[in-house]
Amino acid sequence: MKLFLTSRLLSAAGIAHGFSLRWGGVSSGPFSSLNLSASVGDDEAAVRENHELLREAAGLTGRLAADGAVGVRVADCVPILVHAGAAAAAVHAGWRGTRLQIAGRAIRALQHAAGADPARMLAAIGPCIGRCCYEVSQDLAATFRALFGPEAADDPAVNPKPHLDLRYCVEQSLLHAGVPRERIEQVEGCTSCDSGAFFSHRRDKGRTGRHLAFIEVRDL
Ligand SMILES: [Zn+2]
Repeated sequence: MKLFLTSRLLSAAGIAHGFSLRWGGVSSGPFSSLNLSASVGDDEAAVRENHELLREAAGLTGRLAADGAVGVRVADCVPILVHAGAAAAAVHAGWRGTRLQIAGRAIRALQHAAGADPARMLAAIGPCIGRCCYEVSQDLAATFRALFGPEAADDPAVNPKPHLDLRYCVEQSLLHAGVPRERIEQVEGCTSCDSGAFFSHRRDKGRTGRHLAFIEVRDL
């Protein structure tokens, strides 16, 4: 059983990374079963064991979410993994972070802190709540259309219950920061549609587990 999804681009570059799925772990109830957060009400021993299972599956024994790898926990928000030579970043973007262009800011931070060229970075955008399921207020839809263009959300003047496309906005943010389109990959999956594969904060009314998106940092 595969415990996580991967990006073709990052795999081809030989970078250990993944977007964890919800199956294959030992947690039960709303956290069933590969919950990777100890702060959502799950049993702590189960969460520790889940981390161990994921480490083994990823070949990162002793290195996950510690020295050598970085990660973010999500359940609907957009996880973004960026490889930048000797540096790497794992970014978490909900609608607030997306509005603030958090993905683009991470690119600029890697550029300044690690001297990495955005044109040579690789970015993978992971499973998150899709446009299919993400209804937002008319005000929010209008704000995102103003920031990211008409494809970012439905026009509230036409559709009174507009849907927002966070993936699209995050990709626009990465492009704007200088990452070439061919070096950005959308790893498919709507966390709200697929209850077998994913936890979803919105679908599960807040009582659910968390996924971990992780990427190794090369020590050169
Ligand atoms: Zn969906």
